[in-house]
Order: sequence, then C-alpha cells, then structure tokens
Amino acid sequence: MKTHVKALVVGGGAVGTSIAYHLAKAGWDDVVLLERDELTSGSTWHAAGLLPLFNMSFATTHIHKYSVEFYKSLEAETGLNAGFAVVGNLRMAQTDARMDEYMLYASTAETCDVPFEWLTPEQIKTRWPLIRTEDLKGALYHNTDGYINPADVTMAMAKGARQRGVEIVRKMQVDAYHWNGDAWEVTCTRMVEKGGNLVPSDEQIVVTAEHVVTATGNHAQRTAKQLGIKMPAIPVEHQFIVMEQDPALVEFRKTHAEHPVIRDADAQSYVREERGGWILGIYEKEAPARFEHGVPDAFRADLFPLALDRIEEQYLAMIHRIPSCEESGLKDDFNGPICYTPDGNPLVGPAPGLRNMWLAEGFSFGITAAGGTGYYLAQMMVEGEAEIDMASLDPKRFGSWMTTEYGARKNEECYDHVYILHHPDEERPACRPLRTAPSYERMKSAGAQFGCVNGWERPNYFAPAGFNDHDARSFKRGGWWQYAVDEARAIREGVGMIDATAFTKHRVKGPGATAFLDWFTCNKLPRVGRINLTYALTDHGTTRTEYTIVREGEDDYYLVSSGALTDYDGDFLRKAAADKAGEFGYIEVQNVTTQYGVFAIAGPKSRDVLKKIIIDADPATALTNKRFPWLSAQKIELGMCPVNAIRVAYTGELGWELHHPIEMQNYLFDLIMKAGEEHGLKLVGARAQNWLRQEKSYRAFGTELGRDATPLEADLPRFVNMDKDYQGKAAMLEIGIRSKCVTLLIDGPEGADPWGREALYDGDKRVGRLTSGGYSVAFEKSIGMGYVPPELAEVGTKLKVRMFRELWDAVVVEDSPYDPKNASIRVDG
Ligand SMILES: Cc1cc2nc3c(=O)[nH]c(=O)nc-3n(C[C@H](O)[C@H](O)[C@H](O)COP(=O)(O)OP(=O)(O)OC[C@H]3O[C@@H](n4cnc5c(N)ncnc54)[C@H](O)[C@@H]3O)c2cc1C
Repeated sequence: MKTHVKALVVGGGAVGTSIAYHLAKAGWDDVVLLERDELTSGSTWHAAGLLPLFNMSFATTHIHKYSVEFYKSLEAETGLNAGFAVVGNLRMAQTDARMDEYMLYASTAETCDVPFEWLTPEQIKTRWPLIRTEDLKGALYHNTDGYINPADVTMAMAKGARQRGVEIVRKMQVDAYHWNGDAWEVTCTRMVEKGGNLVPSDEQIVVTAEHVVTATGNHAQRTAKQLGIKMPAIPVEHQFIVMEQDPALVEFRKTHAEHPVIRDADAQSYVREERGGWILGIYEKEAPARFEHGVPDAFRADLFPLALDRIEEQYLAMIHRIPSCEESGLKDDFNGPICYTPDGNPLVGPAPGLRNMWLAEGFSFGITAAGGTGYYLAQMMVEGEAEIDMASLDPKRFGSWMTTEYGARKNEECYDHVYILHHPDEERPACRPLRTAPSYERMKSAGAQFGCVNGWERPNYFAPAGFNDHDARSFKRGGWWQYAVDEARAIREGVGMIDATAFTKHRVKGPGATAFLDWFTCNKLPRVGRINLTYALTDHGTTRTEYTIVREGEDDYYLVSSGALTDYDGDFLRKAAADKAGEFGYIEVQNVTTQYGVFAIAGPKSRDVLKKIIIDADPATALTNKRFPWLSAQKIELGMCPVNAIRVAYTGELGWELHHPIEMQNYLFDLIMKAGEEHGLKLVGARAQNWLRQEKSYRAFGTELGRDATPLEADLPRFVNMDKDYQGKAAMLEIGIRSKCVTLLIDGPEGADPWGREALYDGDKRVGRLTSGGYSVAFEKSIGMGYVPPELAEVGTKLKVRMFRELWDAVVVEDSPYDPKNASIRVDG
C-alpha cells in the first residue's frame, strides 16, 4: 500500500469511489481510496437506486444530470453493467398546487437542459393502465433517468478508478488526521473480522497525503470529531418495502415496457418495479435521526427493524394508486440510515479552517449525486474551481453555531419534508427561534413574520395579528404580497426600517491590512471614512464574495458581506490573510458579526427621523450631504447609543445602515420607532427589500453574484479597477464576457411574479435564465434579473420569460431602472 500520495479518499461508498475515479480521470495519478470494511458496505448497498434528475437547486440538478449521463457510459469503459434501467420518472400531482410546484421544478430543469414532458391523467392511463388516475391533475414525466443497481455502479466506478491507477484498499480504517504544514499525516488501522464483528488490529500505517477527501457516509460525526470541525451530516431512518409479484403487472409486462419510477408526492412515496412486483419507498413522518454520536461498532452493513406503523398510510395510498398490488404480499423490507443535512443538500467542498481537506458528506441522494459530485469536486481540487457555482453545497454554509441537536432535529424535519409542497416562499419551523437579535420580541409584537438566514430570525414582512404565514404561501403571489408592497412603497415614499443584523461583519486591521485588502479585492480601497463596494475573486476570476468595505483608519477596515454565508466568507478571508501575512505583514481578521446589530433606515424621510435623535452640536446639519456625504461612514451618537453609521441603502433611497452594539439594540429600536412616529416610519422585511434592490439592479450575492460569473459578466465594471493588480484579475480578463447580467421588466401572468429561476427566451430559443425575480412597486409590474448572451443585453431587447408553462413578454431595461442617476440616494437636506 502506498504511503505517500497526492490524494487520499476516505470511504468506499458510491460517493468516495466516484471521487477517486474522477480525480484519476482529471489527471492525478497518485490516488488511494481507503475503506474500513467492504466497498458499498455503508448506505450504498441498500439504496433503492433511483436516479431522479429533478431538483429545485441549479447546482444539484447539474450534479444529477452529470451522474445520469456518466453512468450510461460506464459499461463501455469498464465492461461492467451497472444495471441502469432507463425507465423514466413520472411525478404525479393530485392538486393544482402540486402542478404549480412541478412547473417551478420544470424551470430549473429547463435551465439545466434536463428534458421533460407534461402528461394529462388520460395520457397516463393510456400508457400505464394499472395506475389509477381519476384523482390526478396531471404529471411531469422525464424519460432519461430511472434506477440503477447501487452496488454495481459503485463496483463499475471502482474498476474504472483502478484502471486509471487508483489503489483501493479495503479493511483499512482512518483513525486520525494531522496536518504537518505541507501535507496530512493520516493514521490508518487495519480492520479484521472477529466473531462477525469488524475490529481494529494492531497494524497501523501512516499515509502522507497532499489532499484528503472524506466521504464517510454515516460515520460523518466521527470524521468531524477527528478533524475538530462540525458537520450537520446525521442520518435518519428511511424505509422501502419489496412486494411479491403482482400478476397484473407480470401480464402487463408481456406486452409493455417497464413502468417509470412513479412518484406520488402527495402520498409521500415512490414506487418502481422489481421482478414482477413493486418496491414502495416512503418519506415517513417522524422517522428518527440516528448515530448522532457515531455509528456503533456492531453496526456494519446492517438495517434497522421495519417500522410498519410509520408506512401504513402510504401503503394504503399505494393500493389506491395501483389497485392490482393489493394481492401481493410483503417480500422484503429495508430500513436503513440515510444521511441528511438541515437543507437536504450534501456538504461538498473545502473543510472549514483546514488546508487541503475536502468534505463529501451528508448525501441523501448519494447514488444520484455520486457521479456529478466526483466530477465537480475533482475540478475544484485539480483546477481550483468547478464549472458550476458549488456555494450552495459548501460545508461552511452552516455556521459554527450549529450543534448536534440542531443537526439531528433539522435533518429529521428535512426528511419529513421531502414531499411537502415546496413553496418558493417556504420557511421551515424546526429548531426556531434559535439565533435572535435582541429586538426579536419587539419585531414579533409588531407583526414580523420571520424567515431564517444562517440560523438568524429575520423579518420577511410584517402582518396584522393572527396572520398565518404558512397558509399564505403560494407559487404565485402569496397572501403576504400586499404587505410587502406596502412596505416597499413606504421606503420609496416615506421611511422604513429593516433589521439587517444578520449581515456578516469582519474587522481586518494591522500593518498588512491595506496591502492585503488591495490584493484581495478588485475595487479601489476607500479613503479613511469612506465606503466602497468591492469583490473578492476566486483564482478563476469569478466572484467569491461581495463586500461593503468601510475604512475606519489607515489600516483598519470593517467588511460587511452576506448574512447567509458568514463562515464561508470568513474561512476564505482568514486563509487568504494567513497566506499573505509573510508578504504584506501582520493582518488581524476578526469575525464581529454577533457584536453588532444593524438597522437599515431608508426613504426620503429617513434623514428627518435621524435628525431628531442624533446628538450633535448642530443636529440640523449633521446629516447633510456636506457633513455626511453618500458613501461615507461616521461614528455618531443616536441618543445614548454609539452608532457606526454608513450612508448606503440597499433599497436605493436616501438611507443609513446603523451598526450598533448589539446589547443596545432595544434601546435604539425604541428610540428610532418613537422618532419615526410622526413620519409614519414602517418596519420593512426582507421581501420588500429584495424587490427594491432589483429596481436599482443591485446584484445579490448567491443569485447574480457567485463563482460562475465574473464581476464584469455581472456587468459591474464600475466596481472593478483595471489599474491595480489583484487576485483573480488575469483570469477574469481572460474569461471575457460569456454572458451578461441584465434587469428585466416583465409582463407576467395575472397574480404572479417570477421567483428567479425561470428560463429566458429570444423568440423560441432559450437564451438564459433569471437569477432573481419579484414585483416592482415603482413600475407596477414584475421585475427580474438574470443572465443572457452579451448581444442580448442591450437596453430595449425584447425577450420572453417562461412562467407556468407559457412565455411572457420581458424587456431588458437600463441598469438601475428606478432613479438611474441616484438622485434619491444623494438628495440633500
Ligand atoms: C433505504 C434507503 C434507500 C435509498 N434509496 C436511494 C435512492 O433510490 N437513490 C439515491 O440516490 N440514494 C438513495 N439512498 C441514499 C444513498 O444510500 C446514500 O445517499 C449513499 O449511499 C451515500 O453514499 P456515500 O458514499 O456517501 O456513503 P456510504 O455508502 O455510507 O459510504 C461511506 C463509506 O465510508 C466508509 N468509512 C466511514 N468511515 C471510514 C473511515 N474512518 N475509514 C475508512 N472508511 C470509512 C464506510 O464503511 C462506508 O463504506 C437510500 C438510502 C436508504 C437508507
């Protein structure tokens, strides 16, 4: 066994095997995979093998799509048949709302080039007469996927990996990791069979690896402890049952092809054929999390006892849907651990705080995702970036505040929710409230309906007492829509206040800070007391993070970035600063997110409100353009609260962000609310803010801005300095402009706005996609932002946007269609 390698992959399930294969295919010829037991002995062996292409997430759909195509090619390469039955997938809808949901799914599929067709109940009945259809509204059918044999596909990938030089060692367990400054020293123990158990022997080996990937499935908690990090990858029980032969099905199959995988989402189940019978898989209610504190030694390729009471309802629903199966007895049952994360996406990417340590953990659709994960992760490791933005899968999207209890309860919820109606405005209730700003109760009393961002409770909008957010959700304009409209108008016409406490805040200072940030970000650094919007780029020239930088002193900077990704931003910043300290001098990076609350006050009357409470020798002039110009920052006092006031507003109106000591938040809240009374100050939530920023074409991180586009492609040349050198600049210039970010006004369907995932068309040719969507109070119609080829980015270009299966008129408008000259923001007073 090799003891010095370029990459060590830990775990021989579908995921680890695919990663080893793809690393070799990407050109690393020194890869070893270690498996503590046998290949596939984790969750992989008992998976049902379904390969659903569809997913709400853009990145995950790309991953699934790659897998499905890749698995089809494996036999030609390895000679091993992976048992891929390309039977298609039929998603049936019992309600109109479910059909609406599928239309939104279809938007993502469409933008990822995944083929699908719509079927009526009659068409389903004609093709598959065993299915009862009277109570169906229709179905979404995609015919290019199906199911595969999970063990066989893993073995085929393992053979392909070996053919490409990967060494696979079984019965070798990784027990400890040590970073020696250049490489990982990985302590491994040979495992031996003893009385049916797998136990460690005395034989230990240390492997030195430049890179390590962990793909340890249900053992993720043990891996996390070994690495000294947190991972919310905790399995939940998942069951499927195998039925005896169904004579009607056997008869049907004499003349017909196999049924597609049948998904009856409203009955929380999937069904597929298995040797003349059916397999019924269920996403049950109240399935418990398992192995929160590690997998017991006695649990090998084992299962849990069947929990029949949890699947009774779905079993009856299956008999309703396929009446002929009623006579078939139960042949086999599987209740196995299926790994989950709180948002259902796996953890794929660099581990927090560690060098050359890559995670591929927490897979709930691991057979479907294995191929694509191997492909894109290998790109990240070998080339530095993947061709798609992997941020939505990055392990650091869960902050260090996360605990075992949170992971377990959230994962149970995520599993339980697999087949609920996934409204785009959904908010999940488990483990909340958890991270609350001090003004939470005040906001709540004022009617706040909260969303959750990185664990923080953040008002989405404010509604009258007794309003039920859950019932207000929709695929069109929800019951909350009018409240958001009123809030948006309040900011455009009067004054509103937004809780932006969740913002990520870092302080960067020290002798090396200025040279470092000048290299780290692409815009000119601001002068002391001023603010700049800027971007940190990846080595590949795309956008890694967006920052508002406030320069508080010569070498003292305050960085504000997206609230959703505190650890994702912090990890990148800290690692870059550590790398560059030798060159630039000492750089101190502090995460001060939880030290400061933020209220954003905005609107034409915002100055009038603040004037009343600012403590200054001359309050009347303290906030004038002369004394407090746009894009400047000052330490002011509002009553007894010291505030770092920043004159910016993400809504595009006159306004200030008021960064204040978090412990004084309630005092400041009461002060502002009282001062705002006479001006009609309204509390405003994130939904209105999201619409308002689109009227100003302010790109948002995670939608318009990410690792798949450069700031020039985001059409932000005014924030990109061509005169200085910085990380990613050469790559950004070399990429050129592949597509360009535009703002569109949309004449959409009655009572609906786009959500930001819809396809864009030029005539009948698909040319791009929306990344944001919503309603514009200024233009009184739908608005969106998205990417199109540069030649279609001209103002006035007429495009179409697909919503609810139809194409609707859209027109490219000038950047910042509302107040393009920024007169409102700069207004004096
Ligand atoms: C009943 C059921 C049905 C399912 N059906 C489907 C389906 O239809 N489609 C689908 O896509 N997914 C399905 N899944 C999920 C799927 O099984 C998993 O997502 C997938 O198998 C995860 O693969 P993996 O490689 O990440 O983990 P695993 O298969 O669990 O592999 C991890 C491996 O790492 C090894 N390991 C752990 N720690 C160490 C260590 N320290 N040193 C060395 N080796 C180590 C383990 O022994 C194990 O072999 C199903 C799951 C269940 C329970």
